[in-house]
Amino acid sequence: MKPKETLLSTTEIKKLAESEIENDHSSFSMDTALREDAFELDDDLKIELIEKHFKEIMLILGLDLNDDSLSGTPHRVAKMYVKEMFKGLKPENEPKSRLFENKYEYKNMLIEKNISFHSVCEHHFVPIIGNAHLAYFPNDQVIGLSKLNRIVGYFAQRPQVQERMTMQISKMLKEVLKTEDIAVIIEADHLCVAMRGVQDESSSTVTSDFSGKFKDAECREELIKFISMK
Ligand SMILES: [Zn+2]
Repeated sequence: MKPKETLLSTTEIKKLAESEIENDHSSFSMDTALREDAFELDDDLKIELIEKHFKEIMLILGLDLNDDSLSGTPHRVAKMYVKEMFKGLKPENEPKSRLFENKYEYKNMLIEKNISFHSVCEHHFVPIIGNAHLAYFPNDQVIGLSKLNRIVGYFAQRPQVQERMTMQISKMLKEVLKTEDIAVIIEADHLCVAMRGVQDESSSTVTSDFSGKFKDAECREELIKFISMK
């Protein structure tokens, strides 16, 4: 093994750094910060390139990639990034939300609670593990319940910030369900807090977004009561 040959050249590193500065968009937007050319490479090429670069990281860390247990890791990680963990970056993976006629005239609060999800903190690339609670007041149309889980999954499968994920889910629910009466609550453990820095394993983060009828205190109390119910 000649690690020097496989490491990035100084020019390549400089180029990468420059493109990072160019693409340093403000992160206050509700949209995930994506490059304009985000979807120009197909999945297979992305896997091939990530594999190559992940191998570099492992080599820099001093790992011996001739070892049986490590040799397949760059490919496994690359495939997992593109096909699983970050698949929600691709707009074509947005769940198709079919609506059904609200035949029962059910106009009360509907809650889908404890939707478990796994995401990745975009600042450290380590897991965020949590539960989402979604609620809405149906209009003339209702959505299949599993679609609510899929919407959470779509926004979880990308590098995330919990606050933004909360707002992204709320926005999509408003668009799909054609109502402002939407509530989103997310409680999650951030492994970057547990594994590094302050190494606090017991703290968790709660975020919420209440719109329409959920701005009313009584309505919110009812929602919290239902969510806390076993
Ligand atoms: Zn983090």
